[in-house]
Amino acid sequence: MAIQALRGTTDLLADELVRWNAIEQTVRGLAQRYGYREIRTPIIEESSLFLRSVGETSNIVQKEMFRFTDRGGHDIVLRPEATAAVVRAYLQHNLHKTQGFTKLFYIGPMFRAERPQAGRFRQFHQFGVEAIGSSSPWIDAEVIALCVDILKACGLAQPLLWLSSMGCRADQTASARALQERMKSHRKELCEDCQSRFDKNVFRVLDCKRQTCHQLAWKTNPSPFVLCKACQEHFDRVRKALSAIGIAFDDTKVFARGLDYYTRTVFEVRASWLGAQDAVAAGGRYDHLVEELGGPAAGAVGFAAGIERLILAIRPSESSANSGREGLYVAVANPQLLVEAFRLVQALRQQGVATSMDYEGRSLKAQLREADKLRCHWVAILGEQELKNEAVTLKDLEERSQQTVSRDRLVDVLTEKEPD
Ligand SMILES: [Zn+2]
Ligand SMILES: [Zn+2]
Repeated sequence: MAIQALRGTTDLLADELVRWNAIEQTVRGLAQRYGYREIRTPIIEESSLFLRSVGETSNIVQKEMFRFTDRGGHDIVLRPEATAAVVRAYLQHNLHKTQGFTKLFYIGPMFRAERPQAGRFRQFHQFGVEAIGSSSPWIDAEVIALCVDILKACGLAQPLLWLSSMGCRADQTASARALQERMKSHRKELCEDCQSRFDKNVFRVLDCKRQTCHQLAWKTNPSPFVLCKACQEHFDRVRKALSAIGIAFDDTKVFARGLDYYTRTVFEVRASWLGAQDAVAAGGRYDHLVEELGGPAAGAVGFAAGIERLILAIRPSESSANSGREGLYVAVANPQLLVEAFRLVQALRQQGVATSMDYEGRSLKAQLREADKLRCHWVAILGEQELKNEAVTLKDLEERSQQTVSRDRLVDVLTEKEPD
């Protein structure tokens, strides 16, 4: 049997890429408008980067990391997420010394080793931003505003923004103790994973994928995070900043993000009609990660959005893609004119006109059929007569009309009539 792409991976063909490129363009345009600059980090990283940042008890590290040992014995992963890698790069290139507060965005593939299931890929794609070096609540609001702005510009109708705070590390320690206390008597009802994570990181029970754990945790702990005065104030200021710029949020839903590095503000953006369980984008503040990865004490906040998930969320409202005709096809009346045609095609391409031709010496009829199949807007027919007159016969496949156009006017005619 012919070789197939690995399960959980996808080839993106031209029609699909129209949508992907539009999303990437929107991300780049808006992120830059908000003052974020692009960063690209490698796809492979040392495993310890994620063990130290995402956390040993997280689902990512315990079950989902694409981890292997290379021939030199190095413990390597295909990156499961980008935040830790971006912070690693921020420190490695001394941006904390040369720039201080730094705003970055990224677009790229991430990897997950668990068995692929519906809508979950081994190679999936994310875009996101990281604002590193500030603890100001204004930055939380800016990151959230940018996230919502991008998702809306990509065509996500009515995004729902869930906003919460997980408090500082001291709050989390106190909250964890209270959580353990309230759930102690139910410990036996939890899944095996949760039982073993109970002492090390009881918050994992809050985002366990087993319904029974999840329900039990939230039933006994309707609001698991108790905030100190400073965290309460920070959260209030984030909410005020968002209200000031008209961004609606729901702060009644309490939720936990399944990564260890989050502190204070956390948020998720959901598609109202996609059902409650899947977030299109999620993020929050991670005020200790820079320090934990060997840098100075520096606050930071960011988000990541899944491109596959976003496309799923916006697809139904849009189905008219790929309708217009584009470009020019140069057809020859006989194969002796191929050199002339090839010369014309190259000249037109250099003048900015998308141009194709037939290289197989097929009949004129077959060439016209090909032009239609490629959904070209125009066909320029080159025959002996046209060559003598330094002209072409130009057919407009959209309007079904035909005219003779001299070679020196051809580009003008094409670019004038061609809608952009
Ligand atoms: Zn606090
Ligand atoms: Zn569980």
